[in-house]
Amino acid sequence: MHEMGIAEGILSSSLEAAEGAGAVRITSVFVTIGELTEVSEDALQFAWEAICPGTLAEGSVLDITMVPASSRCADCGHEWVHDRYSGAQCPSCGGWVIMLRQGREMRIDSIDIDEESDA
Ligand SMILES: [Zn+2]
Repeated sequence: MHEMGIAEGILSSSLEAAEGAGAVRITSVFVTIGELTEVSEDALQFAWEAICPGTLAEGSVLDITMVPASSRCADCGHEWVHDRYSGAQCPSCGGWVIMLRQGREMRIDSIDIDEESDA
């Protein structure tokens, strides 16, 4: 399951940012994941809970926003939302020149932390 590697990447980036900001604790991490990454939201949650204990992110919430795939047809300009199997051909004109607009995102949007000064 590649979610474990992704969770580790999110955690290490979050820890770096939190330590740079002088945080004593990470409370929430907000991420956006495109459905074409084939990441399972449940598996990513599970991985997150498995790797956070013992770090600044122990007990933190991983807030995942899943983004559906959508594409735009180069021929007729039609835009539509689709799953990973149906994005190859325009459903409006049958064209095959398709530009993927979203669905491959994998990014950290923001991190909520407790700072030392609050303690
Ligand atoms: Zn089209």
